[in-house]
Amino acid sequence: MGMVRPLAPEDPKTLDIAEINRRAQAFERELEAARRRIERRGQEIAWYPYRSLSGLALLEKLLTGAEDSYHEGLRGDLLKYKRPLSFATRSRIRLAVRSTHTAAATGFNVAGLVRGSDPAVGQEYVIIGAHFDHCGRHMGLLFPGANDNASGSAAVMEAARAFGALPEKPRRSILVALFGAEESGLKGSSYMAEHLPPGLGRPVAMINIDMCGAGDGTRCGYSADAPTLKAALERANAAAGTLRGSFPIRGVGVRSSDFAPFFSRGIPCLSCSSNGPHLHYHQEGDTIYRINPDMLADTARLVFLAAADLAGR
Ligand SMILES: [Zn+2]
Repeated sequence: MGMVRPLAPEDPKTLDIAEINRRAQAFERELEAARRRIERRGQEIAWYPYRSLSGLALLEKLLTGAEDSYHEGLRGDLLKYKRPLSFATRSRIRLAVRSTHTAAATGFNVAGLVRGSDPAVGQEYVIIGAHFDHCGRHMGLLFPGANDNASGSAAVMEAARAFGALPEKPRRSILVALFGAEESGLKGSSYMAEHLPPGLGRPVAMINIDMCGAGDGTRCGYSADAPTLKAALERANAAAGTLRGSFPIRGVGVRSSDFAPFFSRGIPCLSCSSNGPHLHYHQEGDTIYRINPDMLADTARLVFLAAADLAGR
């Protein structure tokens, strides 16, 4: 178990860079301790394999017989050309995989709809989503998932409640979605993106929240080719005042979240998380004691205002 702190909201202004670094180092120590605990049990970290490898050491070993070493040549070339470079390593790799069979299970998405008020744009809607699954229990270790992603689910539900309570609904509909099986490969969101609810028309935007409960303020990505989203985000932040940074999303990768299947289908996306390190990401310490409730409220406000803007235009 990690250290348990009382549930007191932190003032983000008191979090200076030294404190953030201190926590990052504490996280590395916890990670190392978790790794040792798992190794003592004689098993690999099957659920997150690359963390059990020291990437650079492995790379240097692989390149022993090659003409270039990573540090002397390859790294510079990769940085210069910014694309994959293929060559013979003259190394031979033997892989052994030990796996445990997990019985098939049924996952669920949970969704709700706030109907838009304007029939002229009634076939358009905004999706607000977050995943409600977490890493669960592996090899006797429990990963509680308070930040990843009970926090995002809570913020989505709060935004949904605010839309439900509006006496005058936005022009376009709001589809609220909690996705299952994100941690096993974005399965719930992929399913929804492939099977958009019939009779609803076309989503004009998708807003995703993943890990918004720990850190300092909110950080959002926006589809690079959708300037309306960035503008809506900035207008929302003029009132919410929680945005610490934003960045264009130009593609999706292995560490993407539930916006990815929508992004890949050309739907403009906003992706919101809290700013700063997620110190207990996929660890046993991801408990409610690390969550700052003020940040959940701030993110819910920001997302509600951005969605209302996009649905009301
Ligand atoms: Zn997550």
